[in-house]
Amino acid sequence: MIIREGKSVFKGVAIGSIFVYKKAEKTVNKETVDNIDAELERFETAKAKALEQLKSLYEKALRDVGEEEAMIFDVHQMLLDDLDYNDSIRGIIENDHMNAEYAVFMTCEQFAAMFLSMDDDYMRGRAADIKDISERVISILNGTQVSPEAMPEPVIIVAEDLAPSETVQFEKDKLLALVTQKGSANSHTAILARTMNIPSLVTTDIEIEQEYHGRTAVVDGFAGLIYIDPDEITLAKLQEKKGRADEQRALLQEMKGKETVTRSGKHVHLYSNIGGLQDVDAVLDNDSEGIGLFRSEFLYLGRDSYPTEEEQFEAYKNVVSRMNGKKVIIRTLDIGADKQADYFDIPQEENPALGFRAIRICLTREEVFKTQLRALYRASAFGTLSIMFPMIISVKEVLRIKEIVEEVKLELDRSDIPYGNVELGIMIETPAAAVISDLLAPHVDFFSIGSNDLSQYTLAIDRQNQSLDTFFDPHHEAILRLIQMTIENAHKNGAWCGICGELGADMELTAKFIQMGIDELSVSPGYTLELRKRIREC
Ligand code: PEP
Ligand code: MG
Repeated sequence: MIIREGKSVFKGVAIGSIFVYKKAEKTVNKETVDNIDAELERFETAKAKALEQLKSLYEKALRDVGEEEAMIFDVHQMLLDDLDYNDSIRGIIENDHMNAEYAVFMTCEQFAAMFLSMDDDYMRGRAADIKDISERVISILNGTQVSPEAMPEPVIIVAEDLAPSETVQFEKDKLLALVTQKGSANSHTAILARTMNIPSLVTTDIEIEQEYHGRTAVVDGFAGLIYIDPDEITLAKLQEKKGRADEQRALLQEMKGKETVTRSGKHVHLYSNIGGLQDVDAVLDNDSEGIGLFRSEFLYLGRDSYPTEEEQFEAYKNVVSRMNGKKVIIRTLDIGADKQADYFDIPQEENPALGFRAIRICLTREEVFKTQLRALYRASAFGTLSIMFPMIISVKEVLRIKEIVEEVKLELDRSDIPYGNVELGIMIETPAAAVISDLLAPHVDFFSIGSNDLSQYTLAIDRQNQSLDTFFDPHHEAILRLIQMTIENAHKNGAWCGICGELGADMELTAKFIQMGIDELSVSPGYTLELRKRIREC
């Protein structure tokens, strides 16, 4: 039995087999091979696996985003089966005695160049697809990429680190737990794990060995431990612990349907944070009163191009409709820093967290912003939708945002497209915004305090850097004073104020937040019932 320790970011116990996740290897070695038949066979096996993955990606996309978007995976399957493409790869292996990776790489280069030289825009676009399918086959050949979706059973992912764009691609039903060597408790990957309700460890002293793949393990999110090949006694103990955790969760079910109100009668709106459509079930299952933060940027991650207005409209409409009149606060695109998508082409920065991110991107790429706003306003006709804007530092930004919003509404009016009555709010997640919250409040309906970034910027501690953990104090007086100030300034100006950062779920602070006058707390769906219990005890 091997035991490794990490920092738990979500409590719970998971038992299952390990899936060692490695990032796709980009470099391709050129090697001569003697056994041509074996090399051809290697290629055929990798290709079959890639086709299988593309088939399940097609089915997942069909379920999550619709047929139009799913089609790309169908096209990829056809390209991978293309006769000329396959003949070229086989030819390089057979005639030049080259290894399969190199044969795929060379064929990819030739085919991509050929597509790129064509006049037709559509055909030129196929060059990216050829690269995509070839990279998939190469990484399977390298043994660096297998998709967890291809696993028959849900798995415990063990990885060096996981970018949000990678985590977001995993199918929730296929995940039992996440264990990473790197990462920090406030990283977006940790937040995603909490949203998905799965026990997870970061900063774990575990080796990323291929030999762990498929071995039985238990992740104990209470103790921050992973047991690989647990002995019988340990396994029995952990099964019992899991049973107790399940019982605890069952007991909390009695909080369903109860009001979120303190003993003295103060009502607090208890909402959920989500990353996408897949989390709405958890919101409803946990009897949350609304969605306080939909991190819309996850719609932009893990893909090769901007989501279209139609695609976004469908996603927002779906969430709003499923919430059936309950409030849904959608945050506009908060890309940049740790959440990167290559197609945004954001130049390399020295300090990305202090760089081109969130509203700064939207205000300089207005078309991207307007596409999202149009989709949001159109979706607002189907329920109760509010919009909030991230990373605000000045009144000037808010005024410009409101001008753009008005332009979008005018366009919709001109086309007779209906929209609802949308509340507009801003996130208070920079010290600048908190300090001038008295000046910002008259321009908005609400504030939502992003304590994750507010803590990072106030304490000057990178939320991604786990080595600074000893310096990090989530209850630092400076943060609490800024929160207090923000709530007071909201109320003085007729706005309401909530917290959607992770601190909102910190039950040691619940009573304090209520004393401060907080109106809303938005937390991972899995914390809803426990927090309701805590509020009712206050
Ligand atoms: C925050 O900063 O607290 C927040 C809610 O936004 P994110 O964690 O997505 O940066
Ligand atoms: Mg933030």
